[in-house]
Amino acid sequence: MIKPKNARRRMVDEQIRARGVGDPKVLEAMSRAPRERFVPSDLQESAYDDNPLPIGHGQTISQPFIVALMVEALELQPGERVLEVGTGSGYAAAVLAEIADAVFTIERHGELATRARRDLIAAGYENVSVMEGDGTLGWPEAAPFDAILVSAGSPVVPESLKRQLAIGGRLVIPVGPETLAQHLLRITRTGLESFQLEDLGAVRFVRLIGAEGWSDAD
Ligand code: SAM
Repeated sequence: MIKPKNARRRMVDEQIRARGVGDPKVLEAMSRAPRERFVPSDLQESAYDDNPLPIGHGQTISQPFIVALMVEALELQPGERVLEVGTGSGYAAAVLAEIADAVFTIERHGELATRARRDLIAAGYENVSVMEGDGTLGWPEAAPFDAILVSAGSPVVPESLKRQLAIGGRLVIPVGPETLAQHLLRITRTGLESFQLEDLGAVRFVRLIGAEGWSDAD
């Protein structure tokens, strides 16, 4: 089996840089975060494949390129505080933690949250806090955030997340009226009551389920 470090270098060159992600901070973070530590043991051979992988509970660890695209869209700077909604395996949180000072991440499945917390600690990430709960409501006690990344698709932009952005903060979220078909939006808080919206293109995510997302019954 190819060494993880070499697999990562190839992933960054062939799947990420080649598709137009050019922020050196993001490329460096992707070449450091050990994706194999966040992939189930029976899928180790596929850890650096160019696709999402199942992690249980009908959920996935996102495709590496999508993680890179979303993290680049956040325009993260060292020293910033980030919220992620949809911890899943913990991999995207690890990539964020390579750049930001502090990462707060919320997962609605208790078992996934517990596993991600364990795997993040084992991989040496001390600047990530994992919480089990409904991430559509954000993490008010830790707000405001310089950046918020939502790793699941929502029918609308949750108002609570907009309100937990610092002025100048960026929210990157897949939004669309259908399951598995959304547009990636970047919402920048330009003032107390003003927000700027950009459409970054079509994406495909599992559902964001919660008070300000899809209801469980949808
Ligand atoms: N970022 C993850 C990774 O790196 O492995 C992949 C995230 S996966 C595509 C989406 C995750 O969002 C799932 O684990 C799902 O349980 C979670 N999720 C869905 N709705 C949520 C909510 N309201 N709050 C927190 N997590 C939620």
